[in-house]
Amino acid sequence: MNCTNCGAPLPPKSNRCKFCKTLNDVDLLNVARRVDGNQETGSRDCPRCAEVLHIVHLDVGGGFGVDRCLTCHGIFFDPGELESVLDESVSKVCEVDYPRLAALVEEEGIEQVKNVTYLKCPDCKKFMNRKAYGSRSGVIVDQCRDHGVWLDGRELHMLLKWTKAGGQIHEQERKAREAEQNKPKLAGPIDDFPSFTREYRAGQIIDATDLFRAVRSIADILF
Ligand SMILES: [Zn+2]
Ligand SMILES: [Zn+2]
Ligand SMILES: [Zn+2]
Repeated sequence: MNCTNCGAPLPPKSNRCKFCKTLNDVDLLNVARRVDGNQETGSRDCPRCAEVLHIVHLDVGGGFGVDRCLTCHGIFFDPGELESVLDESVSKVCEVDYPRLAALVEEEGIEQVKNVTYLKCPDCKKFMNRKAYGSRSGVIVDQCRDHGVWLDGRELHMLLKWTKAGGQIHEQERKAREAEQNKPKLAGPIDDFPSFTREYRAGQIIDATDLFRAVRSIADILF
């Protein structure tokens, strides 16, 4: 994805351009809005900037308002609202597009695990849990069990793309498989993408062979 202001590629998982510093407002581009609710302030504060969140009325799931920060573009969804947005903003997806899913992870970058900040729920102010939203979405949401989920700027956009590529179907199939197996899962995450990790696996086998050769040549020298 490129910056709407200067066209430079945006850094992975961020909506702020490194070159012109523009904050790209990409999350609600394809989501139906009833009115531009940017004027209406809500009662909750942004967990990142402490600015008061504004209510944006969405025309999905019978219509509801989400709390959105005008400064960082993060959005807080009450329980069930995010699912409604994903279901209704993406036209019916029937199958998993594995190459697309794999490409998304590459495109959006890998979650940085260092410097993790735990955010407080805008409602009860208790620290929220960090939780991967589905597998392979590349999005870690902040979730309060009682009040909902917080998405940083660009994360809704990423989840919409993930849903469009069949991420939810893939997730349901994965869960069904796990339930069916009825035993601890032994395979690593690469088994989620059987046909697209073949090369990666081949790479691993070559690595192992190289390692074996290296060990053998050391053995040859020693003995
Ligand atoms: Zn820019
Ligand atoms: Zn904010
Ligand atoms: Zn809460």
